[in-house]
Amino acid sequence: MDMKAIGLIGGMSWESTVHYYEIINRTVARELGGHHSARCLLYSVDFQPIVDCQQAGRWEEAGRALADVAKRLEGAGADCIVICTNTMHKVADQIAAAVGIPLLHIAEVTADELLAAGIKKVGLTGTKYTMQQDFYKEKLAGRGIEVLAPEEGVMDRLNAIIFDELCLGVIKEESRAYFVAAIEDLSARGAQGVILGCTEIGMLVGQKDTQTPLFDTTEIHARRAALLALR
Ligand code: GLU
Repeated sequence: MDMKAIGLIGGMSWESTVHYYEIINRTVARELGGHHSARCLLYSVDFQPIVDCQQAGRWEEAGRALADVAKRLEGAGADCIVICTNTMHKVADQIAAAVGIPLLHIAEVTADELLAAGIKKVGLTGTKYTMQQDFYKEKLAGRGIEVLAPEEGVMDRLNAIIFDELCLGVIKEESRAYFVAAIEDLSARGAQGVILGCTEIGMLVGQKDTQTPLFDTTEIHARRAALLALR
């Protein structure tokens, strides 16, 4: 079979990129059996300069750096681009415009999954950029999905858990409890499900921790990329 090669822009953080690699390979193995595994190229960036750009609001500069990575992946034979972070989809258009291969947008594939589950009102957790700014929410709204974000103070704490703990591979029980409480609060406010809209959250929280249906963007994005490569 003619399997496509997936081009991964990873390293944001590498802690979550590891899971993309695993999920993509497991999906291909499950679909094809035997010793099949995914054809993929991973360009893992140094995350610190990207974090510096985020904090300073220098999104165009970060976008240029990631667009350059996308071009390298295309040149090396990738058939599609997967950005392994929700936040950096803020510059997805800039990245997509730099290449002639398709970009699999994380919010679009998450919207597909939400609609398939009949969800019209969803809670969103992620970095403060993803929860506060429009680039992510408008993709969901464009598909007819209403988005609820946590309260301001809660957003700050979730953002700190992501950057100061999860991106550094630190897992704390108290942070898990805080995250689960934030998810349950969104559910109490009317969300039919909650998006784990940051690729590290699945390291901390899973469906076993709550009755609220969870939509893990790492799982959804990586699985869809693998299935697309097989089509
Ligand atoms: N991986 C995270 C996300 O999905 C956060 C890291 C970043 O800012 O890119 O948003």
